[in-house]
Amino acid sequence: MASVILIPDKKYNVGKIIGVGQNYAQHAAEMGGSGKNPPVLFLKPPTAILAEGQPIKLPGYSNNVHHEVELALLIGRTGKDIAAGDWRQYLAGAGIALDLTLRDLQRLAKDRGEPWSVSKGFDGACPVSAFTPLEQIKDLNNLRIELEVNHLPRQSGSTAEMIYPVDRLITYISAYFTLEAGDIILTGTPAGVGQIVSGDLLLARIEALGEIKFNVA
Ligand code: MG
Repeated sequence: MASVILIPDKKYNVGKIIGVGQNYAQHAAEMGGSGKNPPVLFLKPPTAILAEGQPIKLPGYSNNVHHEVELALLIGRTGKDIAAGDWRQYLAGAGIALDLTLRDLQRLAKDRGEPWSVSKGFDGACPVSAFTPLEQIKDLNNLRIELEVNHLPRQSGSTAEMIYPVDRLITYISAYFTLEAGDIILTGTPAGVGQIVSGDLLLARIEALGEIKFNVA
């Protein structure tokens, strides 16, 4: 079973991974969306988790794997219909994730009105960092977020640009899904998504949370 580490010392078994699509206006625009609708929710299974040190393996059934760097939230206790003012009690910490997406399969699914289960949930689709405890982070809604590929900047933004900030996301998501310890929320990606290919080196960085590196096999 996949597990993630809360720095310094606590381990969580990963539960469901809840993705939030189109939570940054400029990324919504590059995907052809208006950024005016509520964010899209989708799920990745726990088998999507990839810990640092393991290579990203590009699946043979896709020709277009995209990077999306995202602020990841780790849930610390069970909650349902969480009131906006109570969100802090349910969060254990925050980390850095890559919401890897098979863009070709996702386009096909969108055209056919089918779900994104494969394009977002394949094995290894969620590389993650260790998580930093919430108490050590000043403001989740105002952190620089960046991704470099082969040392060149690809994505750069701030979590201040999120259409639904952290408190609103937790209220919104917990209306549909009971949140449990070990669940992870991916909060959406800023603009600049693009393809990764074999041999690439990815470096993702979020202010106050450090950085992670992944090689593409
Ligand atoms: Mg995403």
